[in-house]
Amino acid sequence: MNGVVVVGTGIAGVRAAEALRASGYQEEIAFISPETPIYRPAVSKEALQTPVVGRATMPLKRSADEFTWLLGHQVESVDLVAKSLVVRTPEAEIHTRAFDGLVIASGLRSRQLPISGPTRGRFTLRTLDDAQELEPHLKAGAKIVIIGSGFIGCEVAASAVARGADVTVISPEITPLATSIGVELGERIASKHRIEGVAFVLNASVIEFLGTASVTGVRLSDGTQVNADVVVEAVGSIPNTEWLVGNNLDLADGVLTDQFLRAVGTTASVVACGDIARHPNALFGPLARRIEHWTVSGDMGTHAGRTLSRLLAGSDNECQAFTHVPSFWSDQYEMQIQSFGIPSLGTEVSIIESDAAGNCIAEYRDATALVGVVAINRTSEIAYYRKLLNSRI
Ligand SMILES: Cc1cc2nc3c(=O)[nH]c(=O)nc-3n(C[C@H](O)[C@H](O)[C@H](O)COP(=O)(O)OP(=O)(O)OC[C@H]3O[C@@H](n4cnc5c(N)ncnc54)[C@H](O)[C@@H]3O)c2cc1C
Repeated sequence: MNGVVVVGTGIAGVRAAEALRASGYQEEIAFISPETPIYRPAVSKEALQTPVVGRATMPLKRSADEFTWLLGHQVESVDLVAKSLVVRTPEAEIHTRAFDGLVIASGLRSRQLPISGPTRGRFTLRTLDDAQELEPHLKAGAKIVIIGSGFIGCEVAASAVARGADVTVISPEITPLATSIGVELGERIASKHRIEGVAFVLNASVIEFLGTASVTGVRLSDGTQVNADVVVEAVGSIPNTEWLVGNNLDLADGVLTDQFLRAVGTTASVVACGDIARHPNALFGPLARRIEHWTVSGDMGTHAGRTLSRLLAGSDNECQAFTHVPSFWSDQYEMQIQSFGIPSLGTEVSIIESDAAGNCIAEYRDATALVGVVAINRTSEIAYYRKLLNSRI
């Protein structure tokens, strides 16, 4: 027996391995990853707010001794017919490793703008190393330019302002966060950022990084120049699928799975989970989507581990569909933002509860039904919506 290999030590891979063990699987389960398991949401929050990196360890649900940990290792390629991986060790040696079952949980990496120029002083944010490199630069008076006004850009802005930095967010969006949660709530959250001292340059795109040895600023498409000591690019991410190429998988955007989280295109026992998995969810129609949220990735990992245990036991007909109500949260200043469903599918937004401080609950509907809800500082009041969304089928 060759056991199971889990590629990636993010929440999805870890929960998949734990679920496989919990299902009674006795053979070796080996993690292969360049990274130790971390609590990734802390990367843009706690890890930037104090010089001491805290709360960034991922809590394990089972003893670490139940698994083999090949950390610092990277999978270079896989042959799903031969069931064999090519692995690069920390010493840059190349090994092959056979497996009976495979968990694809290699997540995403940060995208960078395809603009040349100085690289020193330019940062992205995905790993703990990224946070540790950026954190010392977030000091009183430092000019921090953040490119991108999605959740990571806004969270970094809040963390940097809390350290006394002088923060400018530059974005092609007209309203921060509008792509995810619409203009109304995006504007409320942006107002809070402005009160805290963040400057926004919206409807704008960066065309040049200025400086020679280190970045000293950016130039925008209208010719404006914005000075910077540090630039953070929060402009999205790219699925880590290169190692899967050549196996007849659908890698158009992450890895396509069926409703059981089996990778489509192979008869081998292979599941995919977490940010990388483009999966159908019957609650939100037939279209397969990737969802980049912590809780969803963990739940998907658990489900994928159970599916894999059935595939390895030859009980394919007992696999169950993964349906879920996506949920995410974001912390910015004292604002706790919580969402259920997929608000970005909404064509109509109704603010149904609101107070003078801007705290509110917003409902999102498409042409026929509720598709999502977002609360600002009213998080305990929206559990009811989760049940509503869960009964969409
Ligand atoms: C800065 C930041 C803040 C966030 N904050 C929130 C939040 O507040 N709320 C929320 O709901 N969600 C948040 N998220 C999203 C959430 O963290 C992700 O959805 C979740 O971490 C995805 O887990 P994953 O296991 O799929 O992938 P990842 O955590 O990305 O793990 C993938 C793993 O695979 C490894 N890997 C990649 N390629 C290879 C290879 N070839 N060989 C071996 N290993 C490989 C990587 O090193 C990594 O360890 C945040 C994300 C980021 C980046």
